[in-house]
Amino acid sequence: MKSEPFTRRTFAAILGASVPAAVVAQQGIPNPNTSLQPAMRQGTIAEVPPFGETIEFTRKDVALKAQPFPMTQVRLLPSIFKDAEEANRAYMQRLPAERLSRNFLLNAGLPSSAKALGGWETDSSGRDGELRGHFTGHYLSAAAFLYASTGDKEAKDKGDQMVDDLAKAQTKLGAGGYLSAFPIEWFDRLDKRVRVWAPFYTIHKIMAGMFDMYQIGGNKQALQVLEGMSNWADQWTASKAEPHMQDILNTEFGGMGETLYNLAAATGNDKWAKAGDRFSKKAFFNPLALHRDELRGLHTNTHIPQVIAAARRYEISGDSRFYDVADFFYQTVTTGRTYVTGGTSNGEGWLTQPRLLARELKLSTATAECCCSYNMLKLTRHLYSWSPDPRYFDYYERTMLNHRIGTIQPKTGHTQYYLSLTPGAWRTWGTDDQSFWCCTGSGVEEYSKLNDSIYWHDQQGLFVNLFIPSELNWQEKGIKLRQETKFPEQAGTALTVTADKPVQMAMRLRIPGWLESAPTVKLNGKALDATAAPGSYLTLSRTWKTGDRVEMELPMQLHMEAMPDDPKTQAILYGPLVLAGDLGAEGLNDRMVNGPEGPYVNRARIDVPSFHNAGEPASWIKQTGPLAFRTSGQARDVSLAPLYTILDKRYSVYWQVS
Ligand SMILES: [Zn+2]
Repeated sequence: MKSEPFTRRTFAAILGASVPAAVVAQQGIPNPNTSLQPAMRQGTIAEVPPFGETIEFTRKDVALKAQPFPMTQVRLLPSIFKDAEEANRAYMQRLPAERLSRNFLLNAGLPSSAKALGGWETDSSGRDGELRGHFTGHYLSAAAFLYASTGDKEAKDKGDQMVDDLAKAQTKLGAGGYLSAFPIEWFDRLDKRVRVWAPFYTIHKIMAGMFDMYQIGGNKQALQVLEGMSNWADQWTASKAEPHMQDILNTEFGGMGETLYNLAAATGNDKWAKAGDRFSKKAFFNPLALHRDELRGLHTNTHIPQVIAAARRYEISGDSRFYDVADFFYQTVTTGRTYVTGGTSNGEGWLTQPRLLARELKLSTATAECCCSYNMLKLTRHLYSWSPDPRYFDYYERTMLNHRIGTIQPKTGHTQYYLSLTPGAWRTWGTDDQSFWCCTGSGVEEYSKLNDSIYWHDQQGLFVNLFIPSELNWQEKGIKLRQETKFPEQAGTALTVTADKPVQMAMRLRIPGWLESAPTVKLNGKALDATAAPGSYLTLSRTWKTGDRVEMELPMQLHMEAMPDDPKTQAILYGPLVLAGDLGAEGLNDRMVNGPEGPYVNRARIDVPSFHNAGEPASWIKQTGPLAFRTSGQARDVSLAPLYTILDKRYSVYWQVS
């Protein structure tokens, strides 16, 4: 593992070695897609850093303008999304609870005869094991999500057993406070600024797992464990002088703030929010609140969870500084630091100024870490709930279809670390029990909650945001909605209502920003006169009754998207789908595919064809099947398919087009 060219451990080295000075100087290149972006708040116009010496917490809940339905009320129907959910569920089933609890019990001096895990969960000395326990935390969250999403009782029972095991370890270890699979002395190293990987990152995963097991899984013991851990974290951080604590925050600490704010919201105890505030890294927040992108040089997935914490902080306090942090961060990352797939990060960081993605792509083959997409989607949900603008879901959908579907193997449930966008790259997969990367952890969470953002609601009615076959059961209104579609293979969707009694409400259909014109929408077989522009909602306000059926066409067109800093580097899309070129499996073997964190593209480069653009894409890219295409008239023609379908071959997403 240590010889690998890129991991989160070598991020700083990649950054230091690879940023030419000229790259840093360029700024201000417009992004062609900003018209698709939701509006950003004006923000704070001030030169004074908004986050000063002390941050005072006062509880004031912000009324959300849209809320997602609980996962218990939405079920997936057969689809590529359901396949991903099932593959992940089967993987989770293969991991015994005893193995996931083992290192916690041993760390507390309690017996365990379970077989040790490998990868980043190893208990052997050395850096690989320094995050051990992190995956167990992710697993607890995923078990709660899966139970809510599918009713899977086995997942819930396993989560309950793990909570009980970990509670025993907590009692023995720290009298009901500190809980970890590694010794508490590692926090002394953190305090003394002696090299240690990321102890609070790991503690956060366990705390978040306990929170989800309580909040979503209904396990009260998990709340006790979490309060004990939070008490310990509160005391540990309260004992540090503010400048020293700010220095400690230079070591990755996950979403500590988010979980403490969640706990404050769930219990009504402001003490936890005040502890959460100690995890506000001011040097990071201040430029964002002032609408300045100073992200170059930062480790991507260290910082997205801090912005999610800021978003949560705004929701429970109304403090607009935190709103500005989240709002501006989302805008600058999605418009200036995100590839066509929705993914962000290069060698785990942001290596240049914004909108220099062609340059960034050359700096690293380890693009688009999966955790980053997971966390950006989480952040998007917060922003959407404050301002339900359908354009947030253009980003959400693109990331789901092109990054998250496809980074899980439908046969094994194994997931990816990076989705490399280097031309000629291939997918690499984790293993059952010898990987446990950060992205293995966020992966089991992601694919347990694919139903959580399809439908949202407010006082007036519901929003249909994603075209995923599913059934919504809105018990409070006595209404069910069944969405049937083979989207994206089918260019349309249909929604059928079942109502206990007629219900007056608004149904708002997302009209995707990628449509070229307003679509035809039918109600009970009749085309409606009313329609809405791409990037908006079509609102259908009426009294709904059983059998009412809405059909919407979603015609897709071929289009090209160029890199903001290089018009010749282009990707080909069909509607929201990124089309990738199938470049065959030349030179790939099992060792290169299964196990490595990312593909060693530089060691196994192949020639990738370039294209001559003879006008409109449809004039030189021919459709050969429902979602199959082939270039024509090029020096070397290539077959194209949605990126999510190319699982075991080399591919290219970006092309040189002259
Ligand atoms: Zn990751």
